[in-house]
Order: sequence, then structure tokens, then C-alpha cells
Amino acid sequence: MTTLKKHKTNRTLPAQGVEWLHNPVFNKGTAFTEAERDSLGLRGLLPPYVQTIDQQARRVMETFRSKSSDLERYIQIVGLQDRNETLFYRVVMDNLEELMPIIYTPTVGKACQEFGHIFRRSRGFYISSNDRGKMEKILHNWPTRQVKVIVVTDGERILGLGDLGASGMGIPIGKLSLYTACAGIHPMQCLPITIDVGTDNETLLADPLYTGLRQKRTRGEEYDSIIEEFMLAVEKNFPGVLVQFEDFGNSNAFRLLERYRDRACTFNDDIQGTGSVALAGVLSALHLTGGKLADQRVLFLGAGEAGIGIAENIVNVLVEEGLPLAEARKRIWFVDSKGLIVKDRGNLTEHKLHYAHDHAPCADLLSAVKLLKPTMLVGASGQAKTFTQEIVKLMAEINERPVIFALSNPTSKAECTAEEAYTWTNGRAVFASGSPFAPVTVNGRKLVPGQGNNAYIFPGIGLGIVSTGARRVTESMFIVAARTLASLIRENELAEGRVYPSLQRIHEVSHSIAIAVAKEVFEKKLNTLSRPEDLSGYIRSQMFKPEYPDYTKK
Ligand code: NAD
Repeated sequence: MTTLKKHKTNRTLPAQGVEWLHNPVFNKGTAFTEAERDSLGLRGLLPPYVQTIDQQARRVMETFRSKSSDLERYIQIVGLQDRNETLFYRVVMDNLEELMPIIYTPTVGKACQEFGHIFRRSRGFYISSNDRGKMEKILHNWPTRQVKVIVVTDGERILGLGDLGASGMGIPIGKLSLYTACAGIHPMQCLPITIDVGTDNETLLADPLYTGLRQKRTRGEEYDSIIEEFMLAVEKNFPGVLVQFEDFGNSNAFRLLERYRDRACTFNDDIQGTGSVALAGVLSALHLTGGKLADQRVLFLGAGEAGIGIAENIVNVLVEEGLPLAEARKRIWFVDSKGLIVKDRGNLTEHKLHYAHDHAPCADLLSAVKLLKPTMLVGASGQAKTFTQEIVKLMAEINERPVIFALSNPTSKAECTAEEAYTWTNGRAVFASGSPFAPVTVNGRKLVPGQGNNAYIFPGIGLGIVSTGARRVTESMFIVAARTLASLIRENELAEGRVYPSLQRIHEVSHSIAIAVAKEVFEKKLNTLSRPEDLSGYIRSQMFKPEYPDYTKK
């Protein structure tokens, strides 16, 4: 066994001249040096003044800030990614708090809704129902064999926006940009994929500018055989690759996770990544509320991928702490679109059954809060404004520090806003959301809402997995990642009401999570690469830095 070699861009260099400017991997634009301009045949093809990357970054941000809408900012910044990847990552890494809401939720949701209308240049890889029997072969068309991480969607449940079919491609692209920006996974190791099996979205099907197949979604056995062929084809092309499932519809997401988790190096971010980041938020919130996890009553609105994923992680920790499984599950309650999930309700899926307690039926969230008196209220329903003033005030009557997480994305779908949670509780709520909210001042005190952003978790987990060549992704990795994230929050951050470290510290966070995950991989003997003496230094050495190489050096 060996450790992973430091990533080298050993793609064939462009031929002379203008090709250097048209290849986003190698392009330095106005930063090509005098010597490079001579040796690469670029003299005359660029304005005479050689700029530094700092000057280029300043220009990009000046334009970015002058745009009149977030969608225009998205188009500008993705355009830069298509022209000059190094500069793109430099700008994103230096301005992560400002750019993350553009390259990811909420703006990426808008970009997906408008995908066919703002389409400029193809990025990522498309596999459609028509490619059955050919997937292994067509994946050869991808220009590098160095892929280590794939994010794949079938576009059925994009954020909280529903079925966007092939327009969902913005999601794998955005997520992989975050793998690089947050954890330094090399961009050449990342491959965004959309599987187009059709869409049930009539508006898209009727839109002449829609970029996907004009057909209803393939389902059942045919769908499963497409996914099976896909999983075999990626493993053949990129052995050991990490495959992250993203924004699949609820029933497919759980089923595919069960089917592949023990056969491939794979996880579902909507279930497991969300579970992990929310668990970290819950553990941090306990620093503020003062209670123990075993003493909580957690009420969820929404029993889908996110809600169930979070619940499973909380239960796993309670079991680790010594509680029997059945007792641990009793701490968790769900209200879904049909009311409180209780034993007597028929037709419950297996995942919901675990949390169907012996209790009288209850039709709505307000009645459930009155009856159960939860300490924590977690929204993962995709339904805006469902945490009403009455419900939030009631939470504040029951608890000195009510924990209120409104996780639905994008911002327009949040169960309540940060301002509502803080003002309705007179600043006592411990609040986190899925999409970012600005700080709120209540009684002269500035409160900073936490963003339960999966980007705190999946890039670090990915880095740990890639650095060790892990063969599988285990539940325990998500628990150690959550514990690590919660342990990194500082006193001054807690004092502002944050439950997550500032995004400015994301590289440190991802590095620490990668170390914790790597240790877990070695302990469980899931590694295919050997353990280096200096694990921390080795992982840091793997992290991509957005710096221009000197192309005159051989
Ligand atoms: P999903 O479709 O799997 O589940 C949605 C759940 O909400 C279902 O159980 C459904 O029955 C329930 N629901 C629908 N309408 C309801 C209503 N009126 N009242 C009560 N329950 C209702 O979706 P998901 O993957 O679980 O995602 C749900 C939301 O969570 C989305 O908005 C998504 O963007 C968000 N999310 C946030 C994060 C994060 O904050 N890190 C991560 C993943 C998902």
C-alpha cells in the first residue's frame, strides 16, 4: 500500500498559443508572465500589462458586486469557472461567505429553475435513459481518469424545489465546487453527473429551451437497471471513486442508499450529510441550553430524507452514549403532511415506523407542540412559514432556550426566518437554518444565525476518504464528523448565538474532519492506502491551492 501522491495535473498541456487561453484548467489570462507569453506563443494575444492573481481577483469581485441580481452573479462566476478555474477557486476561497450563497443554496436553486434559459457552456457529464448499454463506453469521453469524487443527481428533488429533471445539473456542479473550495479536493478529481431519466415537471416538458429528454420519468425496474449500470460503469472507469447521491426523490434515495452502501464507496448527502451537520448543530446547541442529549425531546416537521437522516444520527449518538435503541428512538417525534406519526397510522414506510410511537393521533404541528412539549423543533418539510408565531412563542414558553432549526431550502421555503425566531422569542431562540440569514439585533444584542450547511461536513469527509482510499462510507464517519465540527465552535462564536464555526474557518474545519474520518477509516481497516506517519501534514499536503504554476519550468 502507498499513500496518495500529491495531485498532479498530468493532462496533456495545450498546444501553442490561443489554446492556453481557452482551456480553463491551464488558463492564467492576463497573469501569463512575459516569459510564458514568449515560450507559449501568447505574445500579442493578451493586453501588454501582466497582472497578478490578486489584481485579477479584485477585478472579478468588482464586477461581481456591481451586478444587480444574484442570478447575474451566478452567471458571471460560473462563466469564470469555465474560463479560468484557478482564479475561480481563488476568488471563491477568499470570499466564501459572500460566494457560497451564489454557487450553492439559495441562488443555485434559481439557476437550476432557469437552467435552459441561462445555459452558456456545458459542464459536467450527462447520462440519459437512451445511453443504456453504453455507459461504460461513453464515460471514456470524460477527459481525465483521475476522478476521485462524483456527485450525481437524477434531478427529481432539487433542494426544496421539486422535480427539475436535467436542469438539476447546477447541483452536482455546485457541490463539487464546494469540495474544492472548502476541502481542497483537486478540481480535476471531481466529476458532476446528471442522470436524465425524464421529468414529471410539465412546465419543463413544455419549455422549448429545456435541456433534458422530453419524456416522463422512467420508474420501477427500468430505473433501477439504469442506476445499476451507472454504478458499474463508474467503478470500471474510476475504480474506488466516491459517489455522492444528491437530490434524488425520497423513495429512490433511501432504497439506493441501502442497495449500494455495502457494495460501493457511496453515501447520500441529503440523508447522511444533513444528518451529520444537524447533529453537530444539536450538540453545539446543548452548550447554550445546558441540557444533555438524552434529556431532549426533538420534534421534526417533515419525515423525509433530511428529517429521518438527522433523527438516525441523534439516535446513533444516544446509543453510543449507552441508551438502548428503543429508548433512544423515543426521544424523537415526527409530524409529516398527515400529522403526528403514531403507531396506529397505517401505510408508514419502514423509516417512519421506527419513530411511530404509541400515542393518540394529532393533526397538526401546533397541537403536537402543545402535547409533546419538545425542547427542540426541527423543520425539514420544504414548507415555508410553517413555524408560525404561535408555535415559536409556545416553544419559548416551554423552554428557557428553545432550539429552533428551520432547515428547508432555499430561503423562500424556510419554516421561519431568523428574524422571526429571534424576535418572537425575545432573543432566546437557538436558531439555525438551511439557507443563510443575516445577523439580527434583538434588545441591542447581535445574534448570528447558524447555517446548517452540509458544506461543513461532506468536503471534509470526502477529503478523509480520498486521502485514505477508503473502500466504504460508514455511518460512524458522519458521527465523528459531527462531533469534530461541534468541538471546533469557539466560546466567542457561541456567545453570538452561533451553533457552527464561522465559514471563514472552513479549511480548518474540513482538515480536522478529514483527519477524524481518516482515523476512523484506518481503525476499521477500510483503507486501500497506507497510514502516513504525519497524518495531519499528509492530509494538508493533499489540499489544492489556487495558485498559478510557472509553465516555463519543465
Ligand atoms: P423529502 O421530500 O424527502 O421530505 C419532505 C418531508 O416533508 C416529507 O416527509 C413530507 O411528508 C413532509 N411534508 C411535506 N409537506 C408537509 C407539511 N405541509 N407539513 C408537514 N410535513 C410536510 O425532502 P428532504 O430531502 O427531507 O428535504 C426537506 C427540506 O430540507 C428541503 O427543503 C431541503 O432543501 C431541506 N434540506 C436542508 C438541509 C440542510 O439544512 N443542511 C439538507 C438537506 C435538505
